[in-house]
Amino acid sequence: MRDKISHYLQQHLTGEVMTSKDALDYFATDASILSLRPKVVVYPRNSNDVRKIARFTWQLAERGHVIPVTARGKGTDQAGAALGEGIMVVFPAHMNKILELDKEQVTIQPGILYSKLEQALHTHYRFLPPYPSSIEFSTVGGALANNASGEKTVKYGDTRKYTKSLSVVLANGELIETRRLNKRELSKKKGQTNFEGEIYRTLDGLIDDNIHVIEKMNQLTVTKNSAGFAMNKIKDSKGGFDLTPLIVGSQGTLGLITQATLDTESYNPNTTLCMAYFDDIEKAGQAVMKLKGIGPSVMEVIDEHLLDFVEHHNPSQIPEVISKPFPKVIMLVEFDDLSETAQRKNTKKAKKVFDELAYEYQVTKEEYEKDMLWRIRHFAASIVWQNVGVTKALPFIEDGVVPPEKFSQYVDRAYKLFAKYNLDVAIWGHAGDGNLHMQPFLDLSSVGDRQRVMKIADDYYAIIEELGGSSSGSHNDGRMRAPYLPDVYGKEVYDLFVKVKTIFDPYGTLNPGVKLFTDKKLIHKMIRKSYSVEHLYDHMPRT
Ligand SMILES: Cc1cc2nc3c(=O)[nH]c(=O)nc-3n(C[C@H](O)[C@H](O)[C@H](O)COP(=O)(O)OP(=O)(O)OC[C@H]3O[C@@H](n4cnc5c(N)ncnc54)[C@H](O)[C@@H]3O)c2cc1C
Repeated sequence: MRDKISHYLQQHLTGEVMTSKDALDYFATDASILSLRPKVVVYPRNSNDVRKIARFTWQLAERGHVIPVTARGKGTDQAGAALGEGIMVVFPAHMNKILELDKEQVTIQPGILYSKLEQALHTHYRFLPPYPSSIEFSTVGGALANNASGEKTVKYGDTRKYTKSLSVVLANGELIETRRLNKRELSKKKGQTNFEGEIYRTLDGLIDDNIHVIEKMNQLTVTKNSAGFAMNKIKDSKGGFDLTPLIVGSQGTLGLITQATLDTESYNPNTTLCMAYFDDIEKAGQAVMKLKGIGPSVMEVIDEHLLDFVEHHNPSQIPEVISKPFPKVIMLVEFDDLSETAQRKNTKKAKKVFDELAYEYQVTKEEYEKDMLWRIRHFAASIVWQNVGVTKALPFIEDGVVPPEKFSQYVDRAYKLFAKYNLDVAIWGHAGDGNLHMQPFLDLSSVGDRQRVMKIADDYYAIIEELGGSSSGSHNDGRMRAPYLPDVYGKEVYDLFVKVKTIFDPYGTLNPGVKLFTDKKLIHKMIRKSYSVEHLYDHMPRT
């Protein structure tokens, strides 16, 4: 079967088609702890290639042969969403261009490296704010598909907010453009006799029939959320209808993105950076809420365990500004207001908060000093890429988000969880959004540790649920978090997700097993026996 698929694709595509062992091995892992080997790897040159792949797999599926199609950026996904056992469609090789750049918007192909796009935007004093920490080694297509967000999201919001329109190849190979439609435009779409028309008709009906169920999605009061399908963002109060917010965050399970037009913001590198030290998690939590009201552009934390870890393994990476005993929490707070006066006023307000709640802090506008302070955050996070004996910090519960006012409870409950399992853990992340990253140290070559993975995940997601949070703030569901999705929104909403998937992908060819239709046993079988992100080592690690 593999030979038939690759021969067909080689004959019909302009992009390269590979089945060599090296290529299949390379694409059998992403940055998650899972592994799944594709049958064929394809490097599309244009959207026509992508259309032909989808049309081919649709026709096979009509005859009962389901060949999964998985879109791939740089494979930095930490939940196994960039893995598939069928055709791997790799965008960065050719579909990596900036197509148009105007004053406030940019149109790109999905395979462009995020940092390359930012570089181009910076030269025009613009930027795309929701860049992930993996900016140097991930694509904008991956960020769109994951609804990625990062350190600036506390002020600017997530990827969905910045996405104006998309070109998307549907499961049957049709190419559609998504954007906000008014009532007249929507009814025109619904009148079409093709697959696109069918999607608009069925989806509009599904939303109208289930409006009260969909409203339940709004009960989660988290400030960022990538779990599930954004069904609550398709229709707006003015009668607008837009598939764009639904496709963003759908991880290639509803369609393949071949082009995107994105809004950008004014970029101000002339920021003020504060670093505050807290001896008490509770006080840090209170500071988060007070600072949020001031409107910082960054509010990041790292905990003492991470500092201890860095000190133990790479003491020279701890800058002189931090001495022992380490603070319980270090918080980085940045203001990037374009007006100098506003920046000064906001910094003054932040200082008042630090005077009240932190035991020490520093504030700077000097580039060198800012780099030194950021170094603490970036170096601390990079250290978790290293082995500690046979164990390694593993990303499998790395992205839970809770309402920001629950920050201190979240940290406290996490510490208790890891104490229960007698595990070392490093905690850091986006305090302003209640979105923390934590990676317990385990040895995947040990059967016992592999078995502990899903047990720890069960306990962890139970905590997130109790705190009214979501299993994923930005990294998305992928495979690892798919079994927990029904608990995030409840069964009624989950059943609607299943219906949405069936509308877009009736044969289940688009990235199956991601977001939906997987279980813990299947995932357990995919867990690798050793973890490495070696395909990312030519870049500076940042998490
Ligand atoms: C060290 C580290 C730090 C990270 N920090 C962050 C962070 O701060 N914030 C954050 O949100 N994430 C973060 N991530 C996760 C990940 O890097 C990002 O979400 C990133 O945007 C994924 O981009 P990628 O190019 O690697 O996508 P991939 O991993 O290749 O793919 C991710 C998903 O997108 C889909 N996809 C890719 N291209 C397309 C397309 N053209 N059409 C449809 N679907 C597509 C894939 O099928 C998959 O489901 C981090 C990961 C690592 C390893």
